[in-house]
Amino acid sequence: MRTPLSAAAALLLAATSTSALADTLIDNANGIQVDVHGKLQRFTGLVIGKDGRVVQLLAKGDPRPAALYDARTDANGRTLLPGLIEAHGHVMALGFGALQLDLTGTTSLADLQQRLKAYAAANPQAKWILGRGWNQEHWADKRFPTAADLDAVVADRPVWLGRVDGHAAVANSAALKATGITAQTKAPAGGRIENGLFVDAAMELVESKIPAPDAAAYDAALAKAQELMLANGLTAAADMGTSPADWAAMNRAGQAGTLNVRVLGYAGGIPAMRAVNGGKPSAWLHGDRLHLGGVKLYADGALGSRGAWLKAPYHDKPDTRGLSLISDAELARQTNEAAANGHQLAIHAIGDAANAQVITAFERLSQRFKGDRRWRLEHAQVLDVADLPRLAKAGIIASMQPIHQTSDRTMAEARLGPNRLGGAYAWQTLARSGARLAFGSDFPVESPNPFPGLAAAVSRQDMSGQPPGGWRPHERVSFGQALAGFTRDGAYAGFAEDRIGSLEPGKYADFILVDRDVSRVTPLELGRTQVIETWVAGKKMWSRGPSAGREERGR
Ligand SMILES: [Zn+2]
Repeated sequence: MRTPLSAAAALLLAATSTSALADTLIDNANGIQVDVHGKLQRFTGLVIGKDGRVVQLLAKGDPRPAALYDARTDANGRTLLPGLIEAHGHVMALGFGALQLDLTGTTSLADLQQRLKAYAAANPQAKWILGRGWNQEHWADKRFPTAADLDAVVADRPVWLGRVDGHAAVANSAALKATGITAQTKAPAGGRIENGLFVDAAMELVESKIPAPDAAAYDAALAKAQELMLANGLTAAADMGTSPADWAAMNRAGQAGTLNVRVLGYAGGIPAMRAVNGGKPSAWLHGDRLHLGGVKLYADGALGSRGAWLKAPYHDKPDTRGLSLISDAELARQTNEAAANGHQLAIHAIGDAANAQVITAFERLSQRFKGDRRWRLEHAQVLDVADLPRLAKAGIIASMQPIHQTSDRTMAEARLGPNRLGGAYAWQTLARSGARLAFGSDFPVESPNPFPGLAAAVSRQDMSGQPPGGWRPHERVSFGQALAGFTRDGAYAGFAEDRIGSLEPGKYADFILVDRDVSRVTPLELGRTQVIETWVAGKKMWSRGPSAGREERGR
């Protein structure tokens, strides 16, 4: 039932809507973006409408509109870029990981115990304390931690702390009790249990019994992930492997008005696809901040663990070619179902055999499903040189992570040997062939900070400048290409280029202010860029606090 508005309430509503009609002017900026031809475009002002979309882009010397603005922001000459887009991240994993106890860099068992104690005190609501990152090799006595070591600090609830490499973890006695593990429990083949330390296959005994996070934990993780994205200048991310529970959390945030970034969801497999929105792509929801438009599948594993599927044996382990995760027939069945439902396909392929398998699957899909489908090859890390031109021909997007090249360089040389690197991390060759590159970090595998990725893209060097001259430097891309990969082409890869990826009339005013002119600095300086402010739909959502490096949320 409706009740008449009081006069005061009516006035308040009128005042709100009048101010909401006013425009915002961002002036005196060093604006840089990539135009539709791939060239750098410069501008100094931005007029934003009440709907959070760009009304007008102003060049230096353009008359500023005479109207009075609801708000005018002087950028003080700072560099302004379109909000950066992560083309391949894992949003909830970023948040869950960041909320866990971080034990990287612990210098001793006492240091680990101290951090555990502080975390337990700060998180009284956590039913299980989960952490990761310790490395006993960096401790004076190099002794593995035990259940008793943890019990000395936390005895009232289960604790489970992973080693830095993910191949071992230590449980306290409460965790052993909660999971029913006793001195009589036998470790499975490929695993080992010692005084609360679980190695490799034995870890599953505990991990399978850790209770799934509840809705409140999902909400907290999503809030944390958004905070990290905004602080790093990311206003949108393709979420590669959205689960039904992830999707529910994102919708809760959208309904509550706390979804402050844009998430382009890719269902994590066919069952997840079927469980969300009746198997079909969703509409753009919550002010175009949430959309499920595709399905993520896997063709193989990763190069480091020799799970990537290669055409020829591993150079450093000639008895294996890695592992295929899906047969041609099953890949065809799953991709056909997803495509028939109107979904985009995004398929993980690292090794050259996996890449060839997926490219072939996409070529076949293109015969059956006509039109603009934008098949996505996720990682496209190691391709047979002969397969490189097939991407452009089939309209396949190469969704790549420049920072992986710097992390993987020496490992890739060991795994592949000197003669099979021609199609490895082949950004420029793919770009020249006409394939579109979308860039990301694969967070939380790598830091969500896109600037070291931009630096790697233009230099093929890591953040300590290694190797001199860059690794296989002919595969470097220009600054404009790199920026396009993190903006315009990232939007294109998500069918979002009519909404985001560049600042043009009708698109959302998603942008960032940074502390340096990223178009005129060295790669190392580019990688160290700091975000000052992050705006989404014409509203300031994050700004750097007064003390350097401090993060705070704003509206
Ligand atoms: Zn990933």
